[in-house]
Amino acid sequence: MRLFVGLDLPWELKQQLARLVGGLPGARWVPPDNYHLTLRFIGEVPPHRAEELDLALAALRGRGFTLSLAGVGTFAKAGKAVSLWVGAERNPSLDHLHGKIETALQRAGLPPEKRRFAPHITLARLENVPQERLVSYVQAHNLFRAAPLEVAHFTLFSSLLGKEASVYTPEVEYELG
Ligand code: ATP
Ligand code: MG
Repeated sequence: MRLFVGLDLPWELKQQLARLVGGLPGARWVPPDNYHLTLRFIGEVPPHRAEELDLALAALRGRGFTLSLAGVGTFAKAGKAVSLWVGAERNPSLDHLHGKIETALQRAGLPPEKRRFAPHITLARLENVPQERLVSYVQAHNLFRAAPLEVAHFTLFSSLLGKEASVYTPEVEYELG
């Protein structure tokens, strides 16, 4: 199964984020139900590995915290914008949780994640969006702020890749103290 660790978002927050949808030709908008914040991508693992990773995550002692989402931005590949996202504000508690998850999963045998942690919620995949449209979209929405989120658990998701949109299923929730 294909797995990742992330934060699930409450319905109200998804609704707030959904207000950012629209006005960008060439954007493939993520269905609001699918909004999430990825803490650690795991990828394909056989079922027995999934169980070991679950045990490692369950043993981790993390603390709850408040998360604020603000501003929009893009990721680019080879100079081309490929995704549009809402950012998470700098948050030492989030970084701390991310570090604990990384350590736990590495101890359980996963290779280290090489990418820098850039917490975000993907709103859309972009294909040939005219640069000037992107610039004006980002300018128009840069002051976006969502109501602060009380994070009381993190989630192990499975992901079924689909033609239109992937289907994410929360498999296990891990409470934060
Ligand atoms: P698709 O790949 O079809 O667009 P998706 O990206 O929504 O679907 P997954 O590829 O299963 O679904 O990814 C699940 C989550 O993990 C997403 O938030 C994705 O951005 C993130 N992710 C995927 N691959 C990586 C990776 N190599 N490194 C870090 N995060 C990743
Ligand atoms: Mg993907």
